Amino acid sequence: MTTTSAVESEFFTAGDPIADTRAPQGPIKDRWDTHRFEEELVNPANRRKRSVIIVGTGLAGGAAAATLGEAGYQVKNFCYQDSPRRAHSIAAQGGINAAKNYRNDGDSIHRLFYDTVKGGDYRARESNVYRLAQVSVEIIDQCVAQGVPFAREYGGLLDNRSFGGVQVSRTFYARGQTGQQLLLGAYQALERQVQAGTVQVYSRHEMLDLVLIEGRARGVIVRDMITGEIQTHMADAVVLGTGGYGNVFFLSTNAMGSNVTATWRAHRKGAYFGNPCYTQIHPTCIPVAGEHQSKLTLMSESLRNDGRIWVPKEPGDERPPQDIPEGERDYYLERQYPAFGNLVPRDVASRAAKYVCDEGRGVGPKVDGVSRGVYLDFSDAIARLGRKAVEAKYDNLFDMYEQITGEDPYVQPMRIYPAVHYTMGGLWVDYDLQSTIPGLFVIGEANFSDHGANRLGASALMQGLADGYFVLPPTLSAYLAGAPFEEADAEHPEARAAAAEVTERVQRLLSINGERTVDSFHRELGHIMWEYCGMERTAEGLTKAIGLIRALREEFWRNVKVTGTNEELNQTLEKAGRVADFLELGELMCIDALHREESCGGHFRAESQTDDGEALRDDENFAYVAAWEFTGNEGKPVLHKEALEYEYVEMKQRSYK
Ligand SMILES: Cc1cc2nc3c(=O)[nH]c(=O)nc-3n(C[C@H](O)[C@H](O)[C@H](O)COP(=O)(O)OP(=O)(O)OC[C@H]3O[C@@H](n4cnc5c(N)ncnc54)[C@H](O)[C@@H]3O)c2cc1C
Repeated sequence: MTTTSAVESEFFTAGDPIADTRAPQGPIKDRWDTHRFEEELVNPANRRKRSVIIVGTGLAGGAAAATLGEAGYQVKNFCYQDSPRRAHSIAAQGGINAAKNYRNDGDSIHRLFYDTVKGGDYRARESNVYRLAQVSVEIIDQCVAQGVPFAREYGGLLDNRSFGGVQVSRTFYARGQTGQQLLLGAYQALERQVQAGTVQVYSRHEMLDLVLIEGRARGVIVRDMITGEIQTHMADAVVLGTGGYGNVFFLSTNAMGSNVTATWRAHRKGAYFGNPCYTQIHPTCIPVAGEHQSKLTLMSESLRNDGRIWVPKEPGDERPPQDIPEGERDYYLERQYPAFGNLVPRDVASRAAKYVCDEGRGVGPKVDGVSRGVYLDFSDAIARLGRKAVEAKYDNLFDMYEQITGEDPYVQPMRIYPAVHYTMGGLWVDYDLQSTIPGLFVIGEANFSDHGANRLGASALMQGLADGYFVLPPTLSAYLAGAPFEEADAEHPEARAAAAEVTERVQRLLSINGERTVDSFHRELGHIMWEYCGMERTAEGLTKAIGLIRALREEFWRNVKVTGTNEELNQTLEKAGRVADFLELGELMCIDALHREESCGGHFRAESQTDDGEALRDDENFAYVAAWEFTGNEGKPVLHKEALEYEYVEMKQRSYK
């Protein structure tokens, strides 16, 4: 096995430790209040003199733009979709967590905090997670006030359901369309500000670089995706709410356009990248049907409230599910994890599904000679609650499944298999959500966030809205209280240089005129990532992957074919830029995964497991956030470690048995 020092000398350099200097001290429940009290404020009359660029109109970016606009700042809000409300957040299905304890089932802020730290396998910051749990309560009030139609129970209170990794019901939902309804709420608030003149929305504009002036983030270079015009926009601060990078795997449940470009370009300009290898593989997705596919579909985790997961006991049993008697079925999650059953966290459920399929007990059509699917069966729930009650909770999800597979899940069990879904890694930020570049703030899935090595279900919406509505507004205001900064407009030499670089890169992509499509590179990268940096990782596989990615990247810049021109709507060109960035990110993800020789959460190193195959952490050597610094195209990345300390939660081997 490769040793840590051998990995270090070959692939990276060790740098100085990094600390979150903005993290407050004192009793955990007072930290956020105290911090806000100690921060400087900007008086309302001065706010209109300050400007902010927010890239992203999803739940994080949209909420931030609306809130900062309402506060009186001048906001420019960018997205690459044709409307802010088509951001990927709209796809979120199952729900959003909050510690309201409406069910009186023992929930509290402290329990949500505890569940999240444990669920993240003790690789998240205590202070951040506690704040998230506190703010969760305010999010629900805000969204209800906006008119978000959450489900209600018979007494009129908002209804709750359970998600993986917890034993209480704290997930608020709007059928299987929670993201859509929340985004419509944020969008309404945003449009109000557009009308009021505080926010200007630039849809169909893609950020291709960040502008730094005197070391501060002061602007962005964007391409108008309709005309190809390269534009420079300047402001006092820049916020990225640009979502996750799961599409580095090619196949994922993310929207087709989700990409890493904004955060990767900022990384190249000096923002450290936190824990890039932490990827979430979601256990309940519709299985891959074949090579032709370019997208995977999630079946919400909420389905695990009532659906039971099973496979045949015997390998190679190809009988239809209804012909397999109860005694010949293996409800393997209920058997292995009696305390949490089908609601174990995603990392645990995903690995268990992989193992039963590896044993030859998978179900459904064979792809490459193997059936990779397990049943998610609602027959018990339908018998117990009646079809109408199941329809009321999940109907749109059942419809979606039937439309995609042609099978009726009311009649035969769904088939599901794990797929890439979410990235816990992202740009490193301090307690104020500020990156290592002053004036560059990062929110939502784009930051390395509060979820540690594994995110619990329904916690991404909570974090995105916490960041956008509640955390960023005061912390960014405190930063802006230090303005005015140096005068800077689009003619500043740094801005002109950044714009020229973007133009040159676009031209370079168009001029290669090679023989392979952008998609073929992306698909090959995805294969490498899934095979070697997916659900199970080894030193040998990761080392091989780094070599393969380097070779693929070299070929990309020599042999990619980008058709069309810059001066038009050119999706091939857009994609080429994104894939070029994925080809760099993929290498860093593998280096991060290779250097972290422990298993934790979604990062499962085959060399580090317990006797019964669970992830085995190594707290002595790896209880830190890995913050990576870019050092140039030929240089090795530099690793800065932020030590993680636990005062309020005891670090233990995670158990859901
Ligand atoms: C199918 C599915 C279901 C999910 N269900 C749930 C759920 O039930 N509960 C839960 O908590 N989480 C869920 N998640 C996760 C959750 O939806 C996301 O983590 C969250 O919505 C991300 O929000 P965001 O605002 O950070 O980013 P996004 O919603 O991804 O928005 C990114 C924004 O950035 C813009 N952008 C990106 N790059 C650029 C660029 N270079 N230039 C200009 N604009 C750019 C985009 O246009 C977009 O406006 C789900 C995820 C998926 C895939």
